[in-house]
Amino acid sequence: MGSRWMEIRVEDLRTYARCPLEWFWERRVGLTRPPTISALVPAAIRAGLGFFYDGHAQDLATAVGLVWLDWCEGWGEPAIAGDLAQYAVGRAKILNLFAAGHVQRPGGGRYTVPEMTGEYRSRMHAAGLTKLGRQLDEFGRTHELLAVDEPDQPGSVLGDAFATSLAAAERAALDLPAREIVLARQVGFHVDVGSGVRLVGEADLLLPEADAPEAVVLEVHDFEAVPWMRAGIAGRDLRVIAASLARPMKAAESTPSNLNWERVARVVFRHWPSGQTFTFRETSSGHLLALTASIARGMRHHVVVPRAVTGYEHCRACAYREHCWNGANWDTLPLVDTGMLGSAEALRAVMEQLRDGLSHDNAAVRRTRQVLSVLENALAETEPADLLAASRRVLEELGDHDH
Ligand code: SF4
Repeated sequence: MGSRWMEIRVEDLRTYARCPLEWFWERRVGLTRPPTISALVPAAIRAGLGFFYDGHAQDLATAVGLVWLDWCEGWGEPAIAGDLAQYAVGRAKILNLFAAGHVQRPGGGRYTVPEMTGEYRSRMHAAGLTKLGRQLDEFGRTHELLAVDEPDQPGSVLGDAFATSLAAAERAALDLPAREIVLARQVGFHVDVGSGVRLVGEADLLLPEADAPEAVVLEVHDFEAVPWMRAGIAGRDLRVIAASLARPMKAAESTPSNLNWERVARVVFRHWPSGQTFTFRETSSGHLLALTASIARGMRHHVVVPRAVTGYEHCRACAYREHCWNGANWDTLPLVDTGMLGSAEALRAVMEQLRDGLSHDNAAVRRTRQVLSVLENALAETEPADLLAASRRVLEELGDHDH
């Protein structure tokens, strides 16, 4: 937050609108977003775009495959990449039967979401993909990518994430901007919306506008897992409106001139799950300003109404589900208690100091973890002040010894 401006990330507007408690965990308490399978698809495609546009892969699908291979190695199981590929090929064959009209509704006509049908389930089973899928999801669970109570569905959640990211990459090959014309990826911008609020955001791709050297085209990528998108929904997306008003980040000496622009001529909204794209020259800035003003008010006054109020099902896909529903549930959090908000701010400051002090020093992280577990056990039987005093005495002794 700057001294003059309240700076809000466009993503935070969306997070707050989805669930103010999600925003609170992330931006006030400072928790690192827990990994989820659904986050793997955008991460794979964005990293794949990096590989592709940097010239490390001949096409996007190859690049996305390389990203998954890297991840499997990072998870300590390079062989799982082969299982994922086998699952994706088998799944694609079955889905192609639906797409080609060989499998239809009992009265004729195509299924909108074949994956939800009994036909899909039985064909997956017959092809041996149910068993392979279970093994893949067991792997996902042991690597904390998948919740223990993930609802039963045909196939594999992890395998589907792999297959859908690959299929989306293949589909996009038809109209993805060529490597030569993309000026930059993940380009930061800001929008001054008045009333002391400045939005900051990131466009996925930056392209030149033909015949208008002062203008650019920005691409906004969306990964919402729905089979289709409508222009009306895309046009109201806060990221699209913000991108249409985007100003370049303050130019640093080192900023290449192609990251500066005077106006945004068009915003392209790319919906990866369906492969649809929509282009906007005009957007409704009033919609963005009104929403930003009310969300900023909520953030300033720490208005935190958890989505959990409406029940567990609405939280199922949320990365912070463990924090809200395990052990002491969300309803035990004194969310309207300003004392709690103050302690959350203090906690965030401690976490930032720890991150700054320990980052890139794995040995120090390991030792600190050991020390913390000793302190944690001792806290159960000792007053915090006594424990701190005793710990300080030990550190002073050790310090004296060093000198
Ligand atoms: S689990 Fe539910 S209440 Fe908690 S942050 Fe997520 S959506 Fe909000």
